[in-house]
Amino acid sequence: MVVSKTAARRRKKAKLLADRKKKACRFCADKVETIDYKDVVVLRKFLTDRAKIFPRRTSGNCAKHQRQLATAVKRARYMAMLPYVVE
Ligand SMILES: [Zn+2]
Repeated sequence: MVVSKTAARRRKKAKLLADRKKKACRFCADKVETIDYKDVVVLRKFLTDRAKIFPRRTSGNCAKHQRQLATAVKRARYMAMLPYVVE
């Protein structure tokens, strides 16, 4: 059977995506109602080394908590508790 390289690659990717376990939102797991902007230790875990907020697909957060996290990080930045950018 002849399979084109692209088709084979596409199938491999689909398999990888199917095998990947969906990570549960850690705020939901901890039953966090509201994310505190003063909780810099937690917020820092969701920032890249350049101080950017991780996308939802990486952080594994649910929509509700990702939104809260983004607001909390922005508040913390305004309060100078987190950096806007790291160079
Ligand atoms: Zn959540």
